[in-house]
Amino acid sequence: MNQNQDISREFAALISALRSDLSYRHDLGFLEWITLSVSSHLPAPVSSPPKKVSPCLSPQQKGQLLEELRREIGVCTRCKLHAGRQKIVFGVGDPNARLVFVGEGPGRDEDIQGEPFVGKAGQLLTRIIQAIGLKRQNVYIANIVKCRPPENRNPQPDEIRACEPFLLRQLNIIRPSIICALGGFAAQTLLMTSEKISSLRGRFHNLGDIKLMPTYHPAFLLRNPEMKRDVWEDMQMVQKEYQGEDH
Ligand code: URA
Repeated sequence: MNQNQDISREFAALISALRSDLSYRHDLGFLEWITLSVSSHLPAPVSSPPKKVSPCLSPQQKGQLLEELRREIGVCTRCKLHAGRQKIVFGVGDPNARLVFVGEGPGRDEDIQGEPFVGKAGQLLTRIIQAIGLKRQNVYIANIVKCRPPENRNPQPDEIRACEPFLLRQLNIIRPSIICALGGFAAQTLLMTSEKISSLRGRFHNLGDIKLMPTYHPAFLLRNPEMKRDVWEDMQMVQKEYQGEDH
């Protein structure tokens, strides 16, 4: 075989690989998703948001894609939070979950264990999930940023810019129909608003075709147990929506 034949074989293989990658991404709804305006650094909204669940992705495929994404993040140094973290807190739960909880960022316990919501606030979140008839394994739990901000301060804009695309890609793979945003920071970031959590909570907001329920953060609830009633109302709406999908 001469050199020209070699090159055209390589070229044909490359085109074929590109074609299958493109059709795979298209099936995934990837192109539609990244144009959905869920974050200020993404382009403008499109008229047709992505479908609820990609018809071509099995739970196993979703699991594999999440693992690939985790590998892509690697030993991340994309923002300054890497300097103080012990473990990256990627997210945990059912890759095919219909309900995803999104918090702000890992705290001390999460940083040590590498899993979201495992400290005191996490234990309360587990009880909240159980109160709507589910288990932690039935849902998916993640944060706006994957590394612990020092002294548990709010994540800063450059940190969100570096990290949020990975959360959006997780959501794109999982394709939940409901997101529960825990606390003002998560709700404001996902909804791109500065409205207070007290006025955002209590109703669903549209995030593409996902229904987003903002509610108080479990850590806030620990300090203000009188707000449990509000969270319970929010979670009952989430439960109703979740159960309604079964019919
Ligand atoms: N608070 C958060 O917002 N996320 C966690 O994972 C833990 C505490």
